[in-house]
Formats: sequence, C-alpha cells, structure tokens
Amino acid sequence: MDFLAIYGRVLRQLGPERWLAVGLAIANVVVAALQFLEPVLFGRVVDTLSSAAGRPPADVWRDAMRILGIWIAVGIGGIVASIVVSLYADRMAHRNRLAAMARYFEHVLSLPFAFHNAQHSGRLMKIMLQGVDNLFGLWLSFFREHLATAVALFVMLPLSLFINWRLGLLLIALIVFFAIANAWIVARTDAMQRRAEDYHSQLAGQAGDALTNVQLVQSFVRLSHEARLLRETIRDLLAVQYPVLNWWALLSVITHAAATITVLGIFVLGTWLHLAGEASVGEIVSFMGFATLLIGRMEQASSFFARMFFQMPALADFFNVLETESTIRDKLGAQPLGRVKGAVEFDHVNFSYDGRRPALQDFSLKVAPGSTVALVGPTGAGKSTSMALLHRMWDPQSGAIRVDGVDIRDVTLESLRRNIGVVFQDNTMFYRTIADNLRVGKQDATDAELVEAARLAEAHEFIERLPDGYNTQVGERGVTLSGGERQRLSIARALLKDPPILILDEATSALDAVTEARIQRALKVLMAGRTTFVIAHRLSTIRDANLVVVFERGRLVESGSYDELLARGGAFTALVQTQQAGLLQGTGIRPYLDTPVAGEALPEAR
Ligand code: ADP
Repeated sequence: MDFLAIYGRVLRQLGPERWLAVGLAIANVVVAALQFLEPVLFGRVVDTLSSAAGRPPADVWRDAMRILGIWIAVGIGGIVASIVVSLYADRMAHRNRLAAMARYFEHVLSLPFAFHNAQHSGRLMKIMLQGVDNLFGLWLSFFREHLATAVALFVMLPLSLFINWRLGLLLIALIVFFAIANAWIVARTDAMQRRAEDYHSQLAGQAGDALTNVQLVQSFVRLSHEARLLRETIRDLLAVQYPVLNWWALLSVITHAAATITVLGIFVLGTWLHLAGEASVGEIVSFMGFATLLIGRMEQASSFFARMFFQMPALADFFNVLETESTIRDKLGAQPLGRVKGAVEFDHVNFSYDGRRPALQDFSLKVAPGSTVALVGPTGAGKSTSMALLHRMWDPQSGAIRVDGVDIRDVTLESLRRNIGVVFQDNTMFYRTIADNLRVGKQDATDAELVEAARLAEAHEFIERLPDGYNTQVGERGVTLSGGERQRLSIARALLKDPPILILDEATSALDAVTEARIQRALKVLMAGRTTFVIAHRLSTIRDANLVVVFERGRLVESGSYDELLARGGAFTALVQTQQAGLLQGTGIRPYLDTPVAGEALPEAR
C-alpha cells in the first residue's frame, strides 16, 4: 500500500461518523483561513500608520476602527471554531480509536486456525496497539494541522502571487524545494525503515513468545539465552534505524536553512521593491507574516511526512490484518443448523494443511446418533485433523462432512459449533473467575446450573475448597489449577453447553487413581446420549466404544467393535500387542494405547 492509499484508509475509518467529520473539517478550514487574514490586517495597520502623517486624524481613526472591527470579528470567529474543533475532534478521535480496536479484536478472533497458527499473539497485539495509536494521531493531526496546511498551499500561496508576484515566486520556490527534499529523503530511507519495522515485529513476537512460555524458559534455564536473543534483535534494529534517523535529521537542517534564506530573501527583495516604489511597507510586512505562517505549515507538513513514513509499515500491517479474509466463513445463504440428533458422516474426505502432504486421505465414516467412536492410531495419523474438520477449523479440499445429512459448509459456522462440544487435552482457561470460565459453556447459566454442572463433573468439591469458591480467579491459562482440576472444569463447561455432538481428546498423562476414576465418571455423565468422538489413549475407553476407528498415515485402515477388531488380527491387534509387549515401557515414551498401570499412577501435579 502506498502513502495515499494508507492515508485514505485512515480517514475512511471515520466512515460511520462522516458527517461529523465533514462538519469538523469545515470548521477547521475556517480557523485556518482566519489565521491567514491576520498578516493582511497587520500590513493594513502598518500602511494606515505610515500614511497617517499627511491625513486628517478623523480619517486615520476611521480606517483604524474598521481594521479593529474586522480583527475583533476574526478573533471571535476563530475562537468559536477552535472550541468546536477541540471539543468534538478529540472526542471523535478517542471514540474511534476504541471502535477500531474493537473491530480489529473481533476480526482477529474470527480468523481461522490457519491464520493464528502462522502468527504470534504478541505480534497481533503489537499490530493492534500501534495501529490504533497511529490512527488516533493521524485523525487528530488531520483536523488540527493538515487542513490548515492544505488551505495554506492551495489558497494562500496563489493569493500571495496577487499581492506581489515577485515575492510570491520566492515562496513557491521554497515550497518546491521542501517537496523535493522530502521525496528525496523518503526514497533514500524507505527500504531501511521497512527493515526496522520488521525488526520491531520480530521483537514483539520474541518477547511475547518468551512471556507465554515463561515456564519453559525458567525450567530449561534459558533466561540469559532469551535475553541475549532479544538484545541481539535490538542491536540489529538500531543498526538499521540510526541511518534513517540521520537522513531525517539532515532533512530538518536543510529545510530550516532554506526557510531562513527565504525570509531573508523576502526582506532584501522587499527593500529593493520598496525603494523602487513597487511595494508598500504594509505589503512587505504582510508578506513576512505570510512567509512565516507558510513556513510553519511546511515544517509541520514535513514532520507529518516523516511521522507518516515511520508509521506507514505499522499501519499497513494493521490494515493487512483487517483485510485478511477468513477462509472459513458462512457461505451466502447459509442456514442456521437447529439442534441436531447427532448423525455424522465423513464422505471421501481429503485434506492437507500445506496442499502437499496429505493429513487425511479418502476418509469415510458413518456414525449413528448417540454412539461413541474411539479414534486410535499412532501420533500424526490424522485423528485430530478429522475432528478439526468436523467443527470446521479447516475445510477439506475434497469430499464432504455431513451432520444429520446436512453438509456442514451449508450451515452457519456458529450454529454448527453450537452443536459440537470439545474437551481439549490441554484445557485452557481464561484469566477470569471459575464461574466466568464455566459460563463460557452457557453465557446465561444461573448459579444453580453452574453448581449442578460442576457436581456432575465432580468439580464442585474442589471448587468449594478454593478460597473464593466459584469466584476464585484462575491464573493465566489456568495455571493455578492442576491438570485434573482443569479437566473437570472443562467437562463442566461442556455439560453446560449441552451439545449433541462431543469431541474428547483423552489425556495422555497419567493421573492418580482417584482423580482418574473421578474424571472417568464425569466423562460418562457427559457422554450419555451424545454422539461422542474420543481420541482414545486408554484401553478401557476403546473397549467401551460402539465403534473403534484405526488411523494410519492419514487413512482409515480398520473399523469395527473392539472384539471384532481383535478377532480380525489386523492393524488394531498389532497396536494392542505392541502395547502389551510393553515395548515402550520404561522408555519415558507413552504408548498411544495407554492404560494407567497400577503403581505407576502419579499424584496430581500442581
Ligand atoms: P493425530 O491427531 O493422529 O496425532 P494429527 O491429525 O494431529 O494426528 O496430524 C496429522 C498430520 O498433520 C501430521 O503429519 C501432522 O504433522 C500434520 N499437522 C497437524 N496439525 C497441523 C497444523 N496445524 N499445521 C500443519 N500440519 C499439521
């Protein structure tokens, strides 16, 4: 995006309040125009006074009073317009800054996994905060400065030619010089500044990455390493930033010098013109005033270009994120899906994350409402991928997924996801109270409903023991709770959501026997009457399932009941035998069919 495109977009962000913006713009033009009347009036005063000697005092007084009257009117007009502008423009900028933040936030949250996978949240935060701050600054300076500068350039400069064309030409020469010098510096530093901006983003990403993984950093004693990485990036950033700053400092020096030379030129040329009888003292005084005003404006414009230049990459990032279209979105005329019975069908589904390596190949499966399906197979075989497709984290490249016979791409995303509950293995929590975290499942759940769900999920007891019960604040990502506690909370959350279809990612880590039994009981309650897919790691779960589906390298290789599969003596039997032979025991690697072994159970780690 180039300069004008970005500037245009910045102003268009005010779209919803365009009439207020137009009103403010007009008020501002008035303020600017009135400002430029002052040097003219000043020149008149000088002329009136210098010609006073030979005139009757009454005439001189009449002229003086007229000028005074106009001056007072101009002053009052200017004050009123300024009050309007500063009252409304500032509020408008503040309001729209927050509105832009809300738009960005909502948009980013709606973007699919594919987008978030490739982005760091720290970077997304930086883009948002910097973006809205830059918008805010630009809106304010648009109303406060840019319009006045435009008036100066397009009204005052041509007018100055009428007052005295020779002096006017001097001013025009100065403006042209300003423009060329600015363009030259931008051309010289553009690429360097982009690189600096990339380093800024990298810095935000690195810092965010380290902060969200603070446990990893500390437990692996990576503190000094991470700090060094950050310092290195800072060093690289400054190495490209300093030259850019030097160039802009040079620009500021030469434009300053040019301005001073122009003022001196006006003085010299003015004296010469006056001596030749071609300009009055008042005209020259007006001109000096004009020149100072215009030069002030030009310097402001120049610093605006400089600022804009430094902000452009950040604004471009901001707009790029806003423009990223979700690949997963409602198609035109998508209908809401009512509460389903829970029949699920995968019909020759093919999917690849990168378009090259298939993650799921020709996957077909029919599941009757209310049944439990255990998905088994080695890591990377495609179990999670099939589930991610079911709740449309991604769309398959070919084939279809149907729920109650309806293609999931034909219904609204929200209504589809309302029908599906997911209990992740890594049960993340918001940095809010337990009650708030449970209400994620059902926004308007009453306290009684919360307690009921927590009881069923065997979570009520431990919640009651917490210092503030349901109002206890959960640490960031739920870190103040143990793994078993988080699991039970997320089961309670799913119970509140009450979806007809359920996706469970069974925990691979062993819990102590008591917690394990609690979770199994809670899960039984949760699964009752729902179509359930379990990414299964425990033999007991697989034994209880109505259907076992075996994945290998993205393909379904076997399916049937546990007994059928065992009797068949195929891939599934091999899996179970590997497990029972204990090949993986003692290696620290957990087999994918993982029955917690008595005596091996670990206490719940906090
Ligand atoms: P499973 O759940 O059986 O362990 P997955 O469905 O997670 O297997 O993975 C299937 C394949 O897709 C693997 O090769 C894995 O590396 C790849 N994969 C999984 N998630 C992603 C992702 N977000 N981006 C790219 N590739 C992925």
